[in-house]
Amino acid sequence: MEGQRLIVVGGVAGGASCAARARRLCEKCEILLFDRGPYVSFANCGLPYYVGNVIVEERKLLVATPHLFKERFNIEVRTKSEVTAIDREKKVVYVKDGRTGETYTQAYDSLVLSTGAQAVRPPLPGIDLPQIFELRTIPDSRKIREAIGYASSALVVGGGFIGLEMAENLARRGLSVNVVELSSQVLPPLDPEMATFAAEHLKSHGIRLVLNNGVARFDLEGNNRILATLNSGEQIQSDIVVLAIGVRPETTLARQADLRLGRHGGIQVDDSMRTSDQNIWAVGDVIEVRDIVTGEWELMPLAGPANRQGRIAAESIIRCHQGREARPQTFRGVQGTAVCGIFDLTVAMTGASEKKLKRAGFKNVEKVYLHPGHHVAYYPGAKSIHMKLLFDASSGRVLGAQAIGEAGVERRIDVISMAIQNNATVFELEEAELCYAPQFGAAKDPVNVAGMIAANCVRGDLELADWNDVDRADVQVVDVRTPAEYDKGHMPQAVNIPIDEMRDRLDELPADKEIWLVCEVGQRAYYATRLLLQSGFQVKNLSGGMRTYSTIHNR
Ligand code: FAD
Repeated sequence: MEGQRLIVVGGVAGGASCAARARRLCEKCEILLFDRGPYVSFANCGLPYYVGNVIVEERKLLVATPHLFKERFNIEVRTKSEVTAIDREKKVVYVKDGRTGETYTQAYDSLVLSTGAQAVRPPLPGIDLPQIFELRTIPDSRKIREAIGYASSALVVGGGFIGLEMAENLARRGLSVNVVELSSQVLPPLDPEMATFAAEHLKSHGIRLVLNNGVARFDLEGNNRILATLNSGEQIQSDIVVLAIGVRPETTLARQADLRLGRHGGIQVDDSMRTSDQNIWAVGDVIEVRDIVTGEWELMPLAGPANRQGRIAAESIIRCHQGREARPQTFRGVQGTAVCGIFDLTVAMTGASEKKLKRAGFKNVEKVYLHPGHHVAYYPGAKSIHMKLLFDASSGRVLGAQAIGEAGVERRIDVISMAIQNNATVFELEEAELCYAPQFGAAKDPVNVAGMIAANCVRGDLELADWNDVDRADVQVVDVRTPAEYDKGHMPQAVNIPIDEMRDRLDELPADKEIWLVCEVGQRAYYATRLLLQSGFQVKNLSGGMRTYSTIHNR
């Protein structure tokens, strides 16, 4: 690639990774990185924590500077330089220099677009009031920090990952916070019953959630306050508003250059990140990616995939010029592995949710719920992890997992993420050999336990009942907890036969009806299930027990 020029547009997650990887692969080419903002390679994922003063110094957000790019990688960075157009025939880009206002052209041999995403800003009355913010860049976070100086209340519009991170950080700064979310749950990528844990936790920290509602208009009240009128007519006053209702791919350049877009509006690329123009690659939030579980194309604005894609684009570009023989690295797709902190709670997921599988037409999906401790109960400080595992009921293929708790959550989801990446089954989760000492886990780790329950189910040793059907008249729900536990709260339709009395009370059970067994978290009900199955009853297990019931019931 000697004498060839690579231009990268967008110098953050995908673009910076691409440029640096390209240099590591090729010393001889010229690499130019343009960004219209004042910085490159900054930690946008850290911005909510800068607002919350967890990260105190702004300079800590700068992962690499133009100076470092030049010194270490011989990459020329031009900030405040917006690429306004691409001439594909001449292979030049038009660059507007933000300092002088002048536009010049720059020729390329290979071009990479990593232009990211832009925040969705619906055209509502009052949307441009100065107290309404979004959070994409360091200057955005600076503005919110300044506004916090005079604010005592905030409205966050959108209850997704970034909205909730902002809610936490604004509350940390002493503001009273309302969150308005259009759908019926927070964290829409999760299934609703799992999101309930997060919603309850937010409420326990004083955050008010308004679900099933959107903002219809904003008005200025007095000199400074914002009055948001919701679709329901409710009005919420606040000093500042943060919009976090999602992003859309920043495809202005791609559309101008007539590159092929997918049906979600992102740039279409092949598995080497090449666009419909053979000299142009695209990576990050601006592209569409294939979900490896459902096989569907979608948008997945996450930092991990953007970094991987940047490396792959560099590999593809250098390889296509050098004819490198090395094993080509291709993009395998995404599986939506994500994690979010909400105060002291961790919420994580990987693979598909139940609702996504339904939307994609998956028919044979089974799920288990469980609530194990993050380490053994006898070692002080064990915290529950609320888990849901989705799998194919016939093959046992792992399709997705969600977990919520105060400790050990992301480790379990990362393990299951690798299982999904490798097309593994629940039998492999059952068999996984994972770290164990009392303060870290259990000899049967939560991942093993999830795999064991699911494997029992696939092997036919255990049938699972569907929580959505618990009101069916033709089944008998039996609660196998102790009478004291039962008296504290039980399902109205459940009769109580404690597991330890079960063998002596078999004659109280119906022989002509399905019996659905429930306990506190599912373990005793499983023992009872095996006992009753071997005694000739028709039995199913309500997985996750009363802990799951309460989340489904409280929704
Ligand atoms: P970006 O990182 O957005 O970079 C795009 C760059 O392109 C921008 O600097 C922009 O100025 C520049 N640009 C655009 N058009 C032009 C043009 N025409 N000319 C020149 N420059 C241009 N992901 C996670 O996985 N975990 C998290 O915890 C997480 N937290 C986040 C928190 C916040 C507040 C935000 C905003 C995002 C978060 N993300 C998180 C998402 C993650 O940051 C993005 O997925 C990732 O940065 C995408 O990388 P990218 O290179 O595609 O785009």
